[in-house]
Amino acid sequence: MSCTPPQYRFCPCCGGVLSSRLRGDRERLVCSNCRRVLYVNPAVGVAVVVRRGDQILWGRRGRGPYPGAWCLPCGYVEWREDLRAAAVREFREETGLLVEVGEVLAVHSNFHDPERLTVGVWFAGRVVGGILQAGDDLAEVRFYPLDAPPAPLAFPTDALVLAELKQGKARLIPELPDL
Ligand SMILES: [Zn+2]
Repeated sequence: MSCTPPQYRFCPCCGGVLSSRLRGDRERLVCSNCRRVLYVNPAVGVAVVVRRGDQILWGRRGRGPYPGAWCLPCGYVEWREDLRAAAVREFREETGLLVEVGEVLAVHSNFHDPERLTVGVWFAGRVVGGILQAGDDLAEVRFYPLDAPPAPLAFPTDALVLAELKQGKARLIPELPDL
């Protein structure tokens, strides 16, 4: 059964029934009991791009949504967690590599999953330690040339970011050092 935030029925604070009311020019969910407005917003995702020559690091998804498809290593920002700290944490969990996050390479809204709308931020990563090994949601991690990415890709916005990297943004990513 689909249950996206706009379909929520009860107030998370007091359990009162939510109803849709016009507030300004938008329909909002308002609690009939405590009168709170339940704002519905996208979650924030972070991805890190690491480069080795003309190749970048991709991950093949194991468990979770889109198994078998490839993505740039990524994850969600937790509540009260700093955006860049989340990028470092997710990249370490999924690839075994410790990175410093640098330039923002891209920011896009993701609409491919109507049940989980997100805003994604793609950072350039400089590897400072660790050993490359797939972990967490990823079953495999591997470098592929910018011109010959793996297939299929899980997320349309990764394809968009790849196109932006090929147009020259890849030079913003530091070269992978010898570890
Ligand atoms: Zn309430």
